[in-house]
This record gives sequence, structure tokens and C-alpha cells, in this order.
Amino acid sequence: MPTYTAPTRDTRFIVNEVLDLASYGNLPGFENATPDMIDTVINEAGKFCAEVLAPINQAGDEHGCTRHEDGSVTTPPGFKEAYQAYVESGWGTLAQPEEFGGQGLPHVLGFVLEEYTGTANQAFAMYPGLTAGAISAILAKGSDEQKAMYVPKMISGEWSGTMNLTEPHCGTDLGMIRTKAVPNGDGTYAITGTKIFISAGEHDLTSNIIHLVLAKTPGAPDSTKGISLFIVPKFILDENGEPAQRNGVSCGSIEKKMGIHGNATCLLNYDGATGYMVGEENKGLAAMFIMMNAARLGVGIQGYAQAEVAYQNAVTYALDRRQGRALTGPADPAAKADPIFVHPDVRRMLMDAKVFTEAMRALCLWGALQVDLTHKAQTAEEREMADLLIGLMTPVIKGYGTDKGYDIANNMQQVYGGHGYVKEWGMEQFVRDSRIAMIYEGANGVQAMDLCGRKLAAGGGKAIQAFFAMIDEEIASAKQDETLKPMAERLEKALGEQKAATMWFMQNAMANPNHLGAGAHHYMHIMGIVTLGFFWLKMAKVAAAKLAGEPEDKAFYEAKLVSANYYAERFLPDAGALRRKLEAGSEYMMKLPAEAFATAA
Ligand SMILES: Cc1cc2nc3c(=O)[nH]c(=O)nc-3n(C[C@H](O)[C@H](O)[C@H](O)COP(=O)(O)OP(=O)(O)OC[C@H]3O[C@@H](n4cnc5c(N)ncnc54)[C@H](O)[C@@H]3O)c2cc1C
Repeated sequence: MPTYTAPTRDTRFIVNEVLDLASYGNLPGFENATPDMIDTVINEAGKFCAEVLAPINQAGDEHGCTRHEDGSVTTPPGFKEAYQAYVESGWGTLAQPEEFGGQGLPHVLGFVLEEYTGTANQAFAMYPGLTAGAISAILAKGSDEQKAMYVPKMISGEWSGTMNLTEPHCGTDLGMIRTKAVPNGDGTYAITGTKIFISAGEHDLTSNIIHLVLAKTPGAPDSTKGISLFIVPKFILDENGEPAQRNGVSCGSIEKKMGIHGNATCLLNYDGATGYMVGEENKGLAAMFIMMNAARLGVGIQGYAQAEVAYQNAVTYALDRRQGRALTGPADPAAKADPIFVHPDVRRMLMDAKVFTEAMRALCLWGALQVDLTHKAQTAEEREMADLLIGLMTPVIKGYGTDKGYDIANNMQQVYGGHGYVKEWGMEQFVRDSRIAMIYEGANGVQAMDLCGRKLAAGGGKAIQAFFAMIDEEIASAKQDETLKPMAERLEKALGEQKAATMWFMQNAMANPNHLGAGAHHYMHIMGIVTLGFFWLKMAKVAAAKLAGEPEDKAFYEAKLVSANYYAERFLPDAGALRRKLEAGSEYMMKLPAEAFATAA
């Protein structure tokens, strides 16, 4: 059975030493995040996830969820008890506002928890994850009454939340949704339609489920401009705010799918269900985007979370499994063979995984800090800058993080040889579970288009210019230090490739938008590579400074320097090849007529 240990040392390194969270103590909510509190949250979250969630991950995959004839759904064995323990420990309250029963701690700590839960058990983590997204949409766009009615019980975990966008004929192109919202004349709406693929859409973990549903009111524009957002509770609340009458929403079926079997992916039928509009009519998509942006960051975390757990197990296996001899001569002459860990090709896969997961952790926790600063930084300029940066980075975290996370999980399966292909070792589950992150919350091709078609131009290019300036500054400072200089120079070169690719888009994509579409995926990967290079340089800087003072855990910091160099040598050069692909434009990609793709004689 695979195992999981939360990487608490690495998290503390990033939170305390790289981000220096304590230095933000003057901001609201951060004052409670004392070094002791930070340590406690990291350690206890790690313990909970390793001891309660990880042990039910494999059984969750095997049993999956069960839909009964009455439309009710039961989660896999152990999920209910684990959810109860999650609620009783107050994990869902961590980064939620105090006025609604949360602890008001920084999102940085909320993201730590998200990583650990997602690594230990992605299917389970999605139940509270979806709830957190729904809370953020209601808090941002709901009325005071809606916030008071729904948010406290969602924060406590008594009720859960969902997001309902997708319909059978539309996922990406939401302008086509058909679900109707007809006014009942009393301020409520009758919601009718079919939503598919709704994660956590029906289950037995909570006493109510608060669905956030996109629908169109009569006469609304037939496009994304005609979409409104509604709260549709599974049970309508009585005058005391308690779940009472069963609403007209039911689970028609659950999907049989490739992975995350422990999470119920539901087809939901809305038959005149009572709904309450959130925010303004026809402005629903913008409101839902608040939820989706939070969720996209969460999915980005899932990308490296599955890579992390697969990596942890692959390391153990590679140290244990003996095949062949080291190329440089037997490493363990007394045994018949050496551990496969000695083979450079196995090391390549393990090092790739190590440097990817550690840098993604740094990027995501930095991203969480930007989310905090967006609301809490002292000046308007700082708030605006944080908002621009996290807006720009969200498709990269989601798109690049999950593309690469899946690749890494795949490589970790490869470390096991044939044993990775059989169920017993659990590796194939990590690969299957990680695959969905490339698809939901906007497929990765759409993330790439969001980055290149919208975010690069946002604010007249202010965000991307700020990104370039942030990295230029780090490079300039690192070049002063002989230890860091080689890495800084490699990063400078990769950043140069990104700047050139950006310029190429500016000069060519207006004349032919297909050039943008053809290069968007490559650009997203160039930016992911450069961004992780930036975080490796930052981490190397901290490690080098520590090593100058003979720290207690010297090996940890030395490993950071080795990893940073490995990343600079092995990942950054890819930016150049990707830039050349991007600059090939779209001619040959788009040239062949549809018939040329057919294989029939
Ligand atoms: C397990 C699971 C859980 C899910 N959970 C939820 C949930 O909780 N709530 C919810 O509402 N939905 C959920 N979804 C739906 C998910 O978000 C959609 O499947 C996803 O957004 C893609 O939509 P689609 O499947 O209709 O694909 P399509 O939109 O048909 O896209 C198919 C392909 O075409 C590409 N494509 C489409 N349009 C463009 C474009 N303009 N430019 C470039 N490429 C394009 C896409 O990238 C994709 O590769 C879930 C799906 C699954 C499988």
C-alpha cells in the first residue's frame, strides 16, 4: 500500500524562509499567524492528512461512490468518518473570515492544507474544496442575508457546496447553457435544466448541499452576457435557517470514470427547483469566475500534489528494488544487484519530480500570498499589483502545473516498471487521479488561451511587465553572488526566450489570431518553466545565505542548491525549443482540410 508523509520541513522553509510570512504581521489576519501558530498548523495538518485521509485513498478508489434508487449517494467506506473528523478539527475554517465563524488566518496556510489534503486523498479533498469555492462566490457577490444564511454552516463544514456550470452540450462555451430560471413572483426563481459532471453533487457527508448554478432568465441575451448565478439548496431552509423541504434537484446518475472514484461526479436534474439569484441578473458568469479562479488555483495544487505522493513512493521503491549494477561499478558488492536508485535514468525521473514539486509548492504558496495581499495589502498599488500578478499566474499554475504534474506522476509509475502498472502498488491510481486536473476548471488549452489572449494584454500589458521586472530584479541581484551566478544566467536566457515569444505574439497574432492559438500552449509552458526557475533562484538564494552561517540542517540547504542547479540545467533550456515551436506560427498546423485527417482508404 502506498504511503504519504506531509513534506512539513519543505513547507516551513517556503513559508518562513522564502516568503517570510512573519514579516507581514502588520496586515489584518496575519497578526494571528505567529511562528508558533504557523508551525502548529503545518504539523497538525500534515499529521491529519497522513493519518486520516491517506489510509482511505486506495479503498476510496476501489469502492467508489454508490448511487441508490432514490437518487441518494453514499461515499466510500471511511469517508464519512474522515469528513466528521475534518469538521471537528475545524480544518475548513482555517482561512475563512472570522465574522462567519472562520479563523481568519492567511490563505497561505489554507493552501498548505489544500496541498496536504489533495496529496493524501484528492477525491476526498474535493468535497471541502468545492465548498470553499462556493463560499468565496457567495461572500463576493451574495447579499448580506444570503451570506448570513449559508456561509457560517458552509464554513463549519455542516453543509457543503458545488459549482454547476457544465451541461451535456457545453463545457467550455458556457454562452450556450440552456438551464432556465423563471421568476416565481416572490423573488425566487424556478430552475429547470440538466447539469452534468457536477463534483460532489450528491453525497452523504453533510446535511445540506448548496449548489451554485448558472442559468438564464427569460429573454436574457443568448450568450455569456445572459447568464445569472443562483443558490439552489438541496433542502430549502425554514424560518430558523434549518434544512427543511426537499428542493427539486436530484442526482440522475453518477459517472463511471478514470480516477477520483471517491468523489461523486453527478448528473443533476433541476425540475423547477427553487433558486435565489446571487448578485445582478446577467452578471452570473463574472460571479462564478470568482469561484473558478479560486478553484483553478486549487486544481493547480492538485497537479503537483499527485506528483508529490507518487514521487515519495517512487523514492522508497527505487531505494529498495534491486536490478543491475551502477554504471561506475557495484554500489553494493555484497548484494547480487544494486538498488535501481543508482541508475542515472531513474535518478533523472526522481530529480525531475523533486525539482518540479518543490518549486510548484513555492509558486503556489507565493500565489496564496498574492491572494491575501489582493485584499489586505496596505496600499492600493500593492493590492492592484498582487491582483494583476495572481490573475496572470492563475492559468500558469493551473495549466502548466497540471500538465507537468501528470507527466511527473507518469514518470513515477515508470520507476516501478511493471509493478507500477498493477493496482497493488497504488501508482496507477495516482496517474489516473492526476489526469482530471488537466481537464476540469477549464481544460488546459483554454487556460493557455486565457493566458495569451487575455492576461498578457491585461492593463495594457502591466501584469506581464511586472512579472518580467520581478524576475529581472532577482537575476540582477543573484548575479552578484558567485554561487548563484550560473543559475541566474541560465534563467536570464530562458526569460529572454519568453520576452522574445511575447514580442513575436505582439507582432504576429493580430494579423493572424491562429498564430496565437497555435502557440498558446507553448507560451504557457515557457512561462511555467521560467516561473519555476525564478522560484528555484529565490530558494537557492535563501539556502546559500543559510549555508554561509553553518546551519543545523546543512544537508537540507545543500540539497536545495543541488536541486536549483539541476533545474537550471535541465528545465530552463526547454524554453528555447518551445519558443522556436511558437514562432513556427500556425501555417502547417491549420493547412490540411478535414478530409486529410480521415484514415479510410
Ligand atoms: C470528473 C469531472 C469533474 C467535473 N466537475 C465539474 C463541476 O464540479 N462543475 C462543473 O460545472 N463542471 C465540472 N466538470 C466539467 C469540466 O469542467 C468540463 O469537462 C471542462 O470544462 C471541459 O468541457 P467539455 O468537457 O464540455 O469539453 P469541450 O468544451 O467540448 O472541449 C473539448 C476540447 O476542446 C478544447 N476547446 C474547446 N473550446 C476551445 C477554445 N475556444 N479554444 C481552444 N480549445 C478549446 C478544450 O480545451 C478540450 O480539449 C467536471 C468534469 C469531469 C470529467
